[in-house]
Amino acid sequence: RQAQFRSLRDVPPLTLDGQRIRLQMNAGLMVDLPHLAESGAEGIGLFRTELQFMIASTMPKMEDQEAFYRNVLKQAAGKPVTFRTLDIGGDKVVPYFRAAEEENPALGWRAIRLSLDRPGLLRTQLRALLRAAAGLELRLMLPMVTEVAELKAVRELLQKEVQRQSKMGEKLPRKLQFGAMLEVPSLLWQLDELMEEVDFVSVGSNDLFQFTMAVDRGNARVADRFDVLGKPFLRMLREIVRAGERNGTSVTLCGEMASKPLSAMALLGIGFRSVSMSPTAVGPIKAMLLALDAGKLAATLNPLLDDRQSSLSPRQMLIDFAEAH
Ligand code: PEP
Ligand code: MG
Repeated sequence: RQAQFRSLRDVPPLTLDGQRIRLQMNAGLMVDLPHLAESGAEGIGLFRTELQFMIASTMPKMEDQEAFYRNVLKQAAGKPVTFRTLDIGGDKVVPYFRAAEEENPALGWRAIRLSLDRPGLLRTQLRALLRAAAGLELRLMLPMVTEVAELKAVRELLQKEVQRQSKMGEKLPRKLQFGAMLEVPSLLWQLDELMEEVDFVSVGSNDLFQFTMAVDRGNARVADRFDVLGKPFLRMLREIVRAGERNGTSVTLCGEMASKPLSAMALLGIGFRSVSMSPTAVGPIKAMLLALDAGKLAATLNPLLDDRQSSLSPRQMLIDFAEAH
């Protein structure tokens, strides 16, 4: 199977009806980087920077972070890399960064919240990223955004770091792209403001599902109780795609859904044209899309999502569609 997928590496990612799909991969450590060339992914749609912190025994210094990011960009050899700023807290534990015990860590002091409360930590990371990407494109993405105001606050800190670098005569990135993860449902009621503020949006469907359905993503007892391919969640995701089209903002999805052929197919059916997945999924997902008539799927899936009477589940419809084609 893997050899068969390898032969697809250089095949253009076009659906049967000619839709161009952007396939990127997720990464977080140097060992992931060789997969970029091997899989034929177009870039790294999600680089989880907290992994460097999670495997270290002490806080990585600015120089260590810079060297690491520089190496990532070098190995990526010109393919775009979207760096997500530290997503510490919740299920991502950094042992030497011991915050007080929390009753609900997933809803607690984490990610961009922690970064804004510890601006020194965030500015150090932003500085390391700016320096590592000198002369290159820097794509930055913020995790767990709840309000657009948080993004504005980060942008101010970023501006300060940019000014600092240029005052010191340091070379800056040639281009800066600023984006947000959409993984907290409150952002659905700020979609237009959000998209005005950023260059791109990336849906973190793992956390978005957790917070939408109120199920702990790490709790086996409830994690599979509700379906990511059920009507509520697919309708929600479709709203995000529509907002992206309305605002001319690029929207991608980098959660686990993108790694499974059936759910990735659903994403294409509701209009996603860009996804980022685990490296081993790139081959299977490409094989799926090469055999897919996205227009035909959309014409079947969208009416079902709008149908209040039908008892057919979208999952069953998708399985039937996949089998029939
Ligand atoms: C997500 O929440 O879907 C996501 C991609 O981020 P992480 O899995 O790192 O929380
Ligand atoms: Mg997340």
